[in-house]
Amino acid sequence: MLGSGTYTIVKEAIHIKTGKYYACKVINKKLMEGREHMVRNEIAVLKRISSGNPNVVTLHDYFEVRVSIQTSHNLYLCFDLCTGGELFDRICAKGNYYEADAASLVRTILTAVAYIHKGGIVYRDLKPENLLFRTPAEDADIMIADFGLSRIMEMRCARCVHSLRYDATHPAHLGFATPLWGEGGEGVLRRDALRGSRREAESADGDLRDAGAGHSKPVDVWAMGVVTYFLLAGYTPFDRDTPKLEMEAIIAGDYKFEPEEYWANVSDTARDFVRACLTIDPERRPTAAECLDHKWLASNTSHFVSTP
Ligand code: ADP
Ligand code: MG
Repeated sequence: MLGSGTYTIVKEAIHIKTGKYYACKVINKKLMEGREHMVRNEIAVLKRISSGNPNVVTLHDYFEVRVSIQTSHNLYLCFDLCTGGELFDRICAKGNYYEADAASLVRTILTAVAYIHKGGIVYRDLKPENLLFRTPAEDADIMIADFGLSRIMEMRCARCVHSLRYDATHPAHLGFATPLWGEGGEGVLRRDALRGSRREAESADGDLRDAGAGHSKPVDVWAMGVVTYFLLAGYTPFDRDTPKLEMEAIIAGDYKFEPEEYWANVSDTARDFVRACLTIDPERRPTAAECLDHKWLASNTSHFVSTP
């Protein structure tokens, strides 16, 4: 067992013929009910797109065979195996990243995001739990894992409080009315109640990946802002005591570069980069490609505050 997500468990697997190791994601088909064609369609797209960028985990194969009675209800997806763990755990272990290292990671991730966007796909679930290191080495490549499918799953199970931290897919950021709270007691965001932004409506990518749930490309840039903040500070910008307060903070774009002692070694250029990604209006938020041109990510690193 390598890990688990909301809808899946992920296991280490060996391809018997070659002896090569893979990560095998096991999805219970019950969760796909009614959307089987969407899932299959999405998988085909993932298979094609995932092999085109070195920092996107490649989907090598998928199958729905009946191995035994217990496995007949599962769907299996075989990905590159990443043995270096989640970015989340590395941030926790370090406390935070030095600015130059953070910039290098952010540049790599954004390049992969820009590539995904160019293919007409919105990643939608960018967070340090979905960013994996290829090997345990300190300088291992960072890989985007887990894209595409989780969104289809969430259209049914709208319990996404955790992801909310990195998520701009709510009306304030798309310019629409208030989300519905309270279903099932705690904070539940009815994603299907949301509508897309104008930019999304105008986009030529009008396939299922961009349709319906208000998840357009600017959400990934917002999430990059949250990830960058997290890398630099070691905590997320909208941390609050309850999901409801957190939600309100996100809607208001209410965050600060505080407490000061966590930000003393962080340049104004880095803060400006975070601010740009966390532009509330998705129409005014820079695209992933535009973010790559930001001074913070340009090759000249002289603006970094020197780190110990
Ligand atoms: P979910 O869609 O349910 O969130 P993920 O694809 O994010 O599923 O996988 C859940 C966890 O499994 C990840 O956070 C990670 O720890 C582990 N995992 C996923 N893919 C891989 C992989 N390719 N190599 C190694 N571990 C992985
Ligand atoms: Mg995940």
